[in-house]
Amino acid sequence: MSMVRSISLFNTLARKVEPVAGASDQIRIYTCGPTVYNFAHIGNLRTFLFQDLMKRTLRAAGRNVRHCMNITDVEDKIIRDSQKDLPADATNEQRHGAMSTLTVRYTQAFLEDLETLRIQRPDVMPRATDHIPHMIRLVKDLEAKGLAYAREGSVYYRIAAFPDYGALAHLDKEGMRQGASEGASGDADEYERDAASDFVLWKAVKDGEPWWDSPWGPGRPGWHIECSAMGIEHLGEHVDIHTGGVDLIFPHHENEIAQSEGCLGHRWVDAWVHGEFLMVEGEKMSKSLGNFFTLRDLIEKGVDPIAFRFAMQSNHYRKLYNFSFEGLKAAENALKRIRAFRRRMEDEGAPAGQGEWKEALDPRQRLAQAREEYWAAMGDDLNTPEALAALFTLISDLNAHDDRVALGREERDEVLAFLDETDSIFAAWPKETGSLDAQVEALIEARKAAKTAKDWPEADRLRHAIQALGIVLEDRKDGSVGWRRA
Ligand SMILES: [Zn+2]
Repeated sequence: MSMVRSISLFNTLARKVEPVAGASDQIRIYTCGPTVYNFAHIGNLRTFLFQDLMKRTLRAAGRNVRHCMNITDVEDKIIRDSQKDLPADATNEQRHGAMSTLTVRYTQAFLEDLETLRIQRPDVMPRATDHIPHMIRLVKDLEAKGLAYAREGSVYYRIAAFPDYGALAHLDKEGMRQGASEGASGDADEYERDAASDFVLWKAVKDGEPWWDSPWGPGRPGWHIECSAMGIEHLGEHVDIHTGGVDLIFPHHENEIAQSEGCLGHRWVDAWVHGEFLMVEGEKMSKSLGNFFTLRDLIEKGVDPIAFRFAMQSNHYRKLYNFSFEGLKAAENALKRIRAFRRRMEDEGAPAGQGEWKEALDPRQRLAQAREEYWAAMGDDLNTPEALAALFTLISDLNAHDDRVALGREERDEVLAFLDETDSIFAAWPKETGSLDAQVEALIEARKAAKTAKDWPEADRLRHAIQALGIVLEDRKDGSVGWRRA
C-alpha cells in the first residue's frame, strides 16, 4: 500500500547515505540495549525512538525485519549500585541475587517505557547474563587466533593484531589511544595490558563483585564482548544494520567490530547507523545540573508521552536535538492539528462551505502528491521534517477546500487511509473509535479499584496505560475523575 520504493540510511562506516542492502529477504538489525541499573533518560529514549522509526519505515516498505536488542545486565555501574549494601563476606550467590534484583526491576521499567512510547518490542531481547558461555567461547576463539592475551586472570584484545581497527570511528592512531584510555572500561587497574589501547574482554574478579568460572579463573565479561556474543548468537554471522547512539561509535562499536570480525574472519555488519544526542536547554544533560529527565519525570510534569515521541521523531535523527518544555508544547500543538484534521475527515455530516471556490484544487491530486513526497522523504535517510511538511501542507490545503466545498465521503476515506499510513510510522494519530471511550472508562475504573486497595504500583501502571492512549486525566473537586483527549 505504501509508496516507499527504497530506503537509504547514513552509514557511519562509509560516511555517506546508502541504500539499505536488498540482497537478503530479511533485514537483521542489532541494537545496543539499555544498561539496566536505573530508569532510561530521555536521551537514551530518543535513540530507541529513532530506531523504532527506522524499523517501522523498513516494515512499511515491505521489508521483513528481525530486530535484536540486548539487555546489559552485568556491567560496572550495575555492580556498583547492586553490591553496595551487601556485607564484605557475602557469598557469590548473594552477590548474583542482588545484581539480578536490581536488573530485573529496571528491565521491567524499560519495557514499560517502550510500551508507553509505543516503541515496537524487538523480536528478541537477550540478557547478557544468559550468554556467559557464548562470551567465554568468543574470547577463547580470539585468544587462539592471537587476537587476545590473558594477564593475571583478565583477558585483553590485542589491537595491534587487527589492522582494520579504527575504520568505523575514522580516528588516527593518536586519537585512538586517547579515546581508548579514557573510555574503554574506566578500569584503573588495567596495568597489565601490552598496549594502552588494548581493551578488556574478560575481567578477573575483584573483592565485592559477583563472578563466573572461566578458563582464566573467576571473573566477568567486559561490556564490549557482550554485544558481539549476543549479536552473533541471535542474528548470525551477518548483520544488516547495527544501531546505537553516536556516543557508542568509539570505543564500543569499534571494539565490537574488532571482536566479531576478528573471530568470524569476514565483515560482520553492513551499515552502522547512529542517532544524535539530545541536549536540554542548550546544555548536556546531567544530574548535577538538575536537567536530567526520565520519561516518568516528564509524565509527572503533565507531558503527554506521545507528544514526547512526536517531538523526538519529527526532528531528524542525525541532528542534535535541543530539548525544552516549550519545544514539547509546539509538538503537542502540531499533534492536535493532525488529530483535529483526522476527526474532521471522519465526520460524516461535515458542514459544507459556500459550495464554490474559484481556486478549487483537485483533492485527489493533492493527496497523491503529498503521499509521494511523504514516502520519498522517509526513504531518504528518514527525513521526517520533510515528510511532515508534506503532511501539513496537505492538511492546510484540504482544510481550506473543506471550508468552501465539502469533500465527499470517498475523498475523506482516501485521506483517512493516508493518515493511517503515516500513523503506521509515527503512532501518534491513530483512529479514534467509540471503543476508546469504553477502554479508557474501564482503565479508570480499574485504577480506582487499585487505589482503594492501596495497590500503588498497579494504580501507577494503569495511569501510564491511560496516558499512553493519549488521554489526560482530570481529578475533580468532588473526588471523581474526568478525562479528555490530549
Ligand atoms: Zn553494543
